[in-house]
Amino acid sequence: MRVAPSPTGDPHVGTAYMSLFNLAYARQQGGQFVLRIEDTDRARYVADSEAQIFDTLHWLGLDWDEGPDKGGPFAPYRQSERSESYRSHVDRLLADGHAYHCWCSTERLAQMREEQQKAKLPTGYDRLCVGKTREERAELPGFSESPVVRMLVPDDPPLAFNDVVRGEIKAPRPDDQVLLKADGLPTYHLANVVDDHEMGITHVVRGEEWISSTPKHLLLYDWLGWERPAFVHMPLLRNTDKSKISKRKNPAARLMWFQEQGYLPEALVNFLALMGYSQPDGEEIFSFDDMVASFDWARVNTVGPVFDLDKLAWLNGHYIRELSVDDLAGRITSHLSRSGVLPAEPSDEQRATVLAATPLVNERMQVLREAEGMLGFLLVPDESFALDADDAAKVLTADAAPVLRASVDALAAVEAWETAGIEKALRVALVEGLGLKPKNAFAPVRVAVTGRRVSPPLFESLELLGRNRTLQRLRHGLAVAGG
Ligand code: GLU
Repeated sequence: MRVAPSPTGDPHVGTAYMSLFNLAYARQQGGQFVLRIEDTDRARYVADSEAQIFDTLHWLGLDWDEGPDKGGPFAPYRQSERSESYRSHVDRLLADGHAYHCWCSTERLAQMREEQQKAKLPTGYDRLCVGKTREERAELPGFSESPVVRMLVPDDPPLAFNDVVRGEIKAPRPDDQVLLKADGLPTYHLANVVDDHEMGITHVVRGEEWISSTPKHLLLYDWLGWERPAFVHMPLLRNTDKSKISKRKNPAARLMWFQEQGYLPEALVNFLALMGYSQPDGEEIFSFDDMVASFDWARVNTVGPVFDLDKLAWLNGHYIRELSVDDLAGRITSHLSRSGVLPAEPSDEQRATVLAATPLVNERMQVLREAEGMLGFLLVPDESFALDADDAAKVLTADAAPVLRASVDALAAVEAWETAGIEKALRVALVEGLGLKPKNAFAPVRVAVTGRRVSPPLFESLELLGRNRTLQRLRHGLAVAGG
């Protein structure tokens, strides 16, 4: 099995989705899972992309047996390092009359295409170069010095093939596809077939957008005398409007988005599995190992699953609540480090604060990112603590001044600085003393101390923050309220 991403930008969620299904089957069958980097399109190549693919797949626990960073019996696993092998196969196809050189310039091809479109003809290469030597072709217009190699699609190519999950499919007749580009590098179609064969891939599992390419690949397998692999074309992930998930339209097309938002890898794996797979008992919450245990291609959907982020948030909340406090605190800490609320290497004290605060927030979070807003007030250095401007404007008004003043007095006098005593002191001072409704009494305290109108439970939060910092913030709040 293999996943074969192209490093053309930060990793697409589809790469994780394909990796998951390939890996589940490989694990169930005791097979090998290869990560191959398809980097022959140098115009679209993005340098950091490969490392990001490694990082995000590792983060999801979707590890490979062979790959560029691991080596393996079929190394190298980057197509840009395998040029030699493609060339010899192209030479053979040329010698056998299955391929030909094409010297048509890009301008000529563009013009040809335009004319075909205008005349409402099917678009495709018009074979001007077929049967011509370089010299003969050079006499004609639209000649380019560096040729490409194209496949010579026969009149009656094999168009139907068996897809493991879809049964027999028939794809449209292919054009004379370019196999080797003018820069000497192979196109996806050639490199993909050669590598799948040479790396011993038995099942090609990829997105349904490749169905129309499969007839080209079948021709190559047949011409080169190679056994065809089994094909599985997975349904594409779709936006709620049913369009294909793309980075332009949907931030969730970027795998790193899930890290940034603070989804748990096990929740995302479960979610991606659910998009294409159902468990025999209909259970929606299941692990990678559960999927491996029940895996059956017959249980894979063929209908484009809608990428429902509400469902993912629900799943994530479920997984968050399954974690022990220690585990969740560790993940919140890592998330806060990644997002810059905590330093890259948090101190023991910062770790302890997160651990102590975790029980206050674990029931309230769907994604770890929410911890940034909920716990920031405990973790940022006092000099960078800031009130939310909107919340301060709404709550820290002149009416709040007496409330904050009474709170300072009451809390300064609390004997033991712990939740019950803090709560009692504030209730006595504000609810009984000032005759306020609890909601109105505590809102100014909350905004002054946590910076926001929505926070973890107030009295516990004050205990964690400590008396001095609490009083300091209440006094600052009082000043803002004009008191
Ligand atoms: N490089 C292709 C991609 O990025 C791989 C398609 C395939 O799996 O054959 O989608």
